[in-house]
Amino acid sequence: MTTSTFATARPEVSLRIGGENRLTGSGGIFEHINPCNGTPDAEIPMAGAAEINEAVEVAHRAFLDWRQTNPAERRRILMRFADLIEQHSDEFTRLGTFDNGTASGLVGGLVAMSVEWTRYYAGWADKITSEVSGTYRTHGEFGYTLSQPYGVIGVIITWNGPLISLAMKVPAALAAGNTVVIKPSELTPFSANLYADLAAEAGIPAGVINVVPGSAEAGSALVAHPLVKKVTFTGGPDTARKILAACAEQIKPAVMELGGKSGNIVFEDADLDAACSIGTLMSVGLMSGQGCAFPTRMIVARPIYDDVVARVSSIASMIKVGDPFESDTLAGPVVNAAALERITGMIERAKKDGARLVTGGGRIGGVLAEGYFLEPTVFADVDPNSELAQKEVFGPVLSIIPFDTEDEAIDIANSTPYGLSGYVFTKDLKRAHRVAEALETGEVLINGAMNISVHRPFGGIGISGMGKEGGRQGLEEFLRTKSVGIA
Ligand code: NAD
Repeated sequence: MTTSTFATARPEVSLRIGGENRLTGSGGIFEHINPCNGTPDAEIPMAGAAEINEAVEVAHRAFLDWRQTNPAERRRILMRFADLIEQHSDEFTRLGTFDNGTASGLVGGLVAMSVEWTRYYAGWADKITSEVSGTYRTHGEFGYTLSQPYGVIGVIITWNGPLISLAMKVPAALAAGNTVVIKPSELTPFSANLYADLAAEAGIPAGVINVVPGSAEAGSALVAHPLVKKVTFTGGPDTARKILAACAEQIKPAVMELGGKSGNIVFEDADLDAACSIGTLMSVGLMSGQGCAFPTRMIVARPIYDDVVARVSSIASMIKVGDPFESDTLAGPVVNAAALERITGMIERAKKDGARLVTGGGRIGGVLAEGYFLEPTVFADVDPNSELAQKEVFGPVLSIIPFDTEDEAIDIANSTPYGLSGYVFTKDLKRAHRVAEALETGEVLINGAMNISVHRPFGGIGISGMGKEGGRQGLEEFLRTKSVGIA
């Protein structure tokens, strides 16, 4: 690994509060570990409660001007921001791989998506309209609504998509006239650092976007700050519960984009080439399985079951796991030692629970032995009630489960407390609509439709969260309605 681009120097990370860059914070230093070889590669200054307080106050002052900025000007500035992100695609790709070890080919795709999300919401900035209820003659009243920004939005994100998670939140918040204080995950500070630089270069006024790397302590200070009027969070359900409990103290609204255990129903009439390749690559290949909306339970019609298990096993075993900077690598390491331990623990317990391991299951040795690399792992005959079928692994592990009837397939798909995405492969259009209607998820993707397309609202139900990102609803999360009546 030492000859890889992965070994080159990391950029210096700073706190961004107003127009200022700070190289130290009261939260101490976080040692960033290179997931390819398990060695420290950067020291990250961390915000503590003091810097969170400063950042929120700065963002609050900036809000007073930003909300008054001509919406067309907000659009132009956000469009410039999108252009700059696009112009820095290579750099963002490198930083994204430094952040968490995701294969650079995939990070590049996520950068392109981030540009689209930014442009999409830039376009909304000057198209925010209100409703008029007309004259209500009996009361002699005329009524209308005002769609207004909240103020400072607390943005807390996790580590698996350090740029796309920002792109799914920040442009919508800013287009609506809010300002933001961003707390990236302590594990992935590099992408947000460049994001802050380019925001300033695009002409986003100082204080409108503040970036404060920090730990849970900084996150909870941000949530608890009374000038933070709404929280938007991407992460796991356990942290979400703590954030929601803190929000409850102030009756503060929150958007929660959480984990998933998405079912992928493959019917007998499916295009098996598409179903097996998409179902496998998206569960045990891309991002080494560390994606919230990935189809991690493949629920397969009995007559094609053995064929599908064989195809999936063969595709999984061909996935190249390795140096994330090599162009033909599909899967890099998992994010850290704790993730590796959690995932291998779940694999071992799945074996004891009677699931049949058909490929993978272990760490990768040789030159990759020091890093957090795992084989793409597929289990068949998984009990739908077992831990493996019920709990998010967030690693390269797929469960395959057989079904006999459409109703049974839907019941299995709906049998977890999550409800993020649902996948269906069938050529029968009526069945596709019927199953889409029946799945208890925030979205349904049929026959390989794209994940996180900006024009469609994305966001789960159940313990997968609440609120939406994407589409008009993603904008409306950052607007509140005031109703005005005139006698
Ligand atoms: P996490 O929940 O542990 O941490 C996420 C962020 O919360 C980090 O920035 C962390 O510092 C911060 N944090 C931790 N404790 C906090 C507290 N008490 N108050 C405020 N902030 C706090 O992240 P994780 O569980 O490792 O992330 C992975 C999860 O994220 C998975 O469940 C995955 O499915 C989910 N995810 C969801 C989406 C989505 O859009 N639905 C996208 C990506 C990841």
